Amino acid sequence: MENLDRYSRQTLFKPIGEEGQRKLLKSRVVVVGMGALGTVIANHLVRSGVGYVRFIDRDLVELSNLQRQSLYDEEDAANHLPKVIAAEQKLRKVNSTVKVEAIIADLNLDNAEELLGGFDVIVDGTDNFSTRYLINDIAVKLNIPWVYGGAVSSRGMFAVIVPGKTPCYRCLFPEVPAGLGETCDTIGVLSPITDIVGSFEAVEVLKLLVGAEHNPNLEQLDIWYSSFLQMDISDGKNPECPACVHHQYDFLDRSSIQQTTFAILCGRDTVQINPRNVDSINLENLAKSLKNSGKVSVNPFLLRFFPDEKATMVFFKDGRVLIHGVEDITEARMYYSRFVGA
Ligand SMILES: [Zn+2]
Repeated sequence: MENLDRYSRQTLFKPIGEEGQRKLLKSRVVVVGMGALGTVIANHLVRSGVGYVRFIDRDLVELSNLQRQSLYDEEDAANHLPKVIAAEQKLRKVNSTVKVEAIIADLNLDNAEELLGGFDVIVDGTDNFSTRYLINDIAVKLNIPWVYGGAVSSRGMFAVIVPGKTPCYRCLFPEVPAGLGETCDTIGVLSPITDIVGSFEAVEVLKLLVGAEHNPNLEQLDIWYSSFLQMDISDGKNPECPACVHHQYDFLDRSSIQQTTFAILCGRDTVQINPRNVDSINLENLAKSLKNSGKVSVNPFLLRFFPDEKATMVFFKDGRVLIHGVEDITEARMYYSRFVGA
């Protein structure tokens, strides 16, 4: 039998107890997105002794993240570490007895089933709607509970989605909101709200894992103007929901949606290009071919290339490129075709 001493303050809490702790140690959770919400969620889950925590993120640590992304520090930003690598290094020191796994990737319909399948709970640490609909389709299809959460400005919301039991995300939000809407790019975000929403998400994960009753509400809160709104969603199932009623998974269907090859990343003037015809790239060979066109710097995870004073291109091994310093997708496309090809 495992030694549970390090979790004594948690096992003393009756609804968890030693039995619940053993369940946590056998559990597998995947956190999608390791920004402000994801770092809070992963930190709680690893400290609480969830046995296996995978985290997935597509971005690297930058100075402007440090205001709220609590697992990272200035050294991570200076070393241009991918967020999941910085998080993995930190969390291994926090709890070496559980397994943490870092995945540098952009979650999309090509890899979602493989990356999210086989987990007990999926947790949302993302900053965008399209990934949430994708998570929802996978969760409903594979019958995996998931915890939704979002935060922007001083406001946040979260809800627990259990396929077959609660309404799904698409029942609650039938359409992808038009345009980009309000993001942390346009109206900012306060660190306490991401801490609070991430903590609520983490505790709902723990409840799901030990088999306790989860929160039945869509919770909305504003910590600046002190408003708290609870909406019971138990009866919110849409009888014609494409996802959870008709099992039509539009966000997993190549023919029904446009492939997102270009994405504007929240938090900075960056465009991601995810070429679907490239499986992997050899960073060393790429460094050789680019070094006559500008400064190149490589670490074990990525290559940074400075074609001019304005832009920085970051290449990952899976073929993705982040183009930093550009104003829009057109300009990003120009850099990409100039240095990589069409
Ligand atoms: Zn539904």
